[in-house]
Amino acid sequence: CGIVGYIGHREAYSIVLKGLQRLEYRGYDSAGIALYDGEELNLCKTKGKVSDLKDKFEETATSTKGTVGIGHTRWATHGVPNDVNSHPHYSNSGNLVIIHNGIIENYDTLKKELIKRGYTFESDTDTEVLVNLIEDVMVNEKVKLGKAVQIALNQSVGAYAIAVFDKRKPNELVVARLGSPLAIGIGENEFFIASDASPFIEYTSNAIYLEDGEMAVVRTQKQIKVRKIHDDSLVDPYVQELQLN
Ligand code: GLU
Repeated sequence: CGIVGYIGHREAYSIVLKGLQRLEYRGYDSAGIALYDGEELNLCKTKGKVSDLKDKFEETATSTKGTVGIGHTRWATHGVPNDVNSHPHYSNSGNLVIIHNGIIENYDTLKKELIKRGYTFESDTDTEVLVNLIEDVMVNEKVKLGKAVQIALNQSVGAYAIAVFDKRKPNELVVARLGSPLAIGIGENEFFIASDASPFIEYTSNAIYLEDGEMAVVRTQKQIKVRKIHDDSLVDPYVQELQLN
């Protein structure tokens, strides 16, 4: 299972798709992608291979354009492998999309709470619970995406590498890690997200490997901000020089 993301000035589609192919070795049962072209969020997911995803995306999407995108290969833990349970997952408003590797162990308790508050769920995944919890925090506590992700993760028990995107704020991706790997490639006014560096090593040799319990807000034209999820302290991240071999 793996995650890939891109935000910057290049066309994200081929970067994300090729990245997913490079992560295929990790094993998976389904794949999905979400791409924002400035107007529409094109989201496509399918049980099966990344090559099936490519065919389906190119058949159904209104465009393959967009300089921000996220992609996922799933290894099902909650909910059978099928199209609906595949990632990315939307929040109820349709504004937030998430990709997630790992497990939210207390998803059932969180889900019951959210259902009481009027949320509905399409899939059987723990991940769809997390994205709606983030949305609920954003709405109720009137906080920005990064803060909402942090508060939601502090209410979650489990393991994760996540990337979250809000289509109302298309210059920003929020990522976090606990127990599943997450690397951030740093280019010039562009960022790459992936489970390991293989999806982005041809574009940049600078990378930050998030440590367990860290999250980052990556924005185009801005410095990356890394924090500890549990106490909000800022981390000065170590930027590693990758070797191409
Ligand atoms: N727990 C999530 C699911 O079952 C993510 C699984 C994964 O790591 O791919 O959908």
